[in-house]
Amino acid sequence: MSYDPENIFAKILRGEIPSEKLYEDDHTYVFMDIMPRADGHCLVIPKTPARNILDATPAQMAAVMETTQKMSHAVMAAFGAGGVTIQQFNEPAGGQEVYHLHFHVLPRHEGVSLRPPGKLEDREVLAANAQKIRDALAA
Ligand code: 5GP
Repeated sequence: MSYDPENIFAKILRGEIPSEKLYEDDHTYVFMDIMPRADGHCLVIPKTPARNILDATPAQMAAVMETTQKMSHAVMAAFGAGGVTIQQFNEPAGGQEVYHLHFHVLPRHEGVSLRPPGKLEDREVLAANAQKIRDALAA
């Protein structure tokens, strides 16, 4: 399976479609998931092409994991969460829907289940939650 440069996250990286940006460094980019399964659900991606962990280089994996750890602390602080869930899917059989490597970061509260997938969040709610995370990153 090869990398398709027309996937939606590649378009986000090129600025062709908008995203609610939270963080970026030389190697990674982080933005809000538009169908969050928890408040603060965000996605960490490499800036360079990788379809998923099956073709990612060790350097891409290292960069994305470093940012995933940073975002885990930020979303927990932003939402007063007691924990964080990291999700990552590979190929259709593995549940992947967008074919640019990404890690889901989901702040969690004791006894609160993840919401079902597939529900678009209100734009203002997404923006307000994004600002909480940016504030936590800046603190
Ligand atoms: P996965 O490939 O990990 O199964 O799921 C892809 C994730 O990307 C889903 O959680 C979905 O809500 C999110 N997603 C799909 N399209 C867009 C989009 O255009 N913008 C953003 N920010 N997230 C998206």
